[in-house]
Amino acid sequence: MNFRILRFQVHHLRTMSTAATTKNTNTDPNGKGKGKGKGQGKPKGKGKDGANSGKPRPRPSSFMFAELHQRVASELITAGLSPIPEFSKTFRNHEAIRPSPYNTSVVAKFRCTGCGKRWVSGRVAICIRKFPEDKYNASVYNQKCKGCEKLGIMELDEQSYIDRVAYRLKVWGGIKIHTPPYEEKNTPPHECHLCEGCRLGECHGGQPCPFYTK
Ligand SMILES: [Zn+2]
Ligand SMILES: [Zn+2]
Ligand SMILES: [Zn+2]
Repeated sequence: MNFRILRFQVHHLRTMSTAATTKNTNTDPNGKGKGKGKGQGKPKGKGKDGANSGKPRPRPSSFMFAELHQRVASELITAGLSPIPEFSKTFRNHEAIRPSPYNTSVVAKFRCTGCGKRWVSGRVAICIRKFPEDKYNASVYNQKCKGCEKLGIMELDEQSYIDRVAYRLKVWGGIKIHTPPYEEKNTPPHECHLCEGCRLGECHGGQPCPFYTK
């Protein structure tokens, strides 16, 4: 599997002017989709918060993988979709148009920098959104460590992301495709209290998480 290692420090960079006023993705109810997943070698400390507070920055609840758009797009081109939707980070959940937002799951590995624990999840929440003018985006939700409840470092299974996102965009684009076969995931049962998708209402096909609605 092709896993991408994310560097968490860059996820706090704010490139959206509209998002710049909210510092903590963990407490913003509209914060779905604001986390950044571009983490490939960008330097720390460019964010508006500055790097000189001395406090560790909170880890993000979700990530975007704009850099995987080209691979999603090539699947869409192969399928004959036209026009090809464009990835846009600047739209938020409330701007999504029907039939989105759509909740499904991808596969990822995680590790905890607090206690060193590693885990694999076959049910990592993802929210895919469609926007006007053939734009879309997707947020993948982080998970907490079972040992110490710190948010993990995610290594996304990129192919699972590309498959899910491309499939959904084909469906929305009217491409006739067969439903992919259900894949049995050989991973432990989903633990809602450790899943940021559950906490933010993005992990049960758009239904509220039973753990958080008790
Ligand atoms: Zn831990
Ligand atoms: Zn849940
Ligand atoms: Zn969940």
